[in-house]
Amino acid sequence: MHFRQLRQSVGTMTGYLRVQRAICCFTRFYDLLTEERPLMAIERTLSIIKPDAVAKNVIGKIYSRFETNGLKIIASRMAWLSPQEAGEFYGVHKERPFYKDLVAFMTSGPVMIQVLEGEDAIAKNRDLMGATDPKKAAPGTIRADFAASIDANAVHGSDGPDTAKVEIAFFFPAMNVYSGR
Ligand code: ADP
Ligand code: MG
Repeated sequence: MHFRQLRQSVGTMTGYLRVQRAICCFTRFYDLLTEERPLMAIERTLSIIKPDAVAKNVIGKIYSRFETNGLKIIASRMAWLSPQEAGEFYGVHKERPFYKDLVAFMTSGPVMIQVLEGEDAIAKNRDLMGATDPKKAAPGTIRADFAASIDANAVHGSDGPDTAKVEIAFFFPAMNVYSGR
């Protein structure tokens, strides 16, 4: 084989290897892009620290539960609700026998209202809160630790994406205007 022929075939081989390496790189990049990852649903939910928990001076302790569990407080304000506000907020329970007592309780002192943001924020907040009746709430939940009764049960949390949207807009109307999501 002539020297020139040899150089040509080495050149062809090198070119072939380069193409192969490029294909390999592309395949790896494509795999990385299309790799199956769990869907991360970043949500927002409305939380209220009710008058009983505010009176017990445990706002900070409850906030700490949110923060240590990956929920970010992205808006907050303290308010003393009027009967009209509380009545409208709990409008879905209007026909329930406990509605009047609920409105009376929610207006009995100041509340702390916040928007929580994070992965699966709605369900996560409900898990952290525990069952409506503190006697049935799992140990370590906010209601098990800070609530005294089904009426004075420390916290409110939206129960689904639709209610979260409506409830956030109820207390933080500007968030709907400026929110990126
Ligand atoms: P949650 O706050 O767990 O979402 P609900 O939406 O069912 O519970 O009820 C709203 C609030 O009304 C409760 O947090 C509780 O303070 C009050 N409530 C619910 N059920 C009763 C009941 N059977 N008796 C008295 N109060 C109740
Ligand atoms: Mg509810």
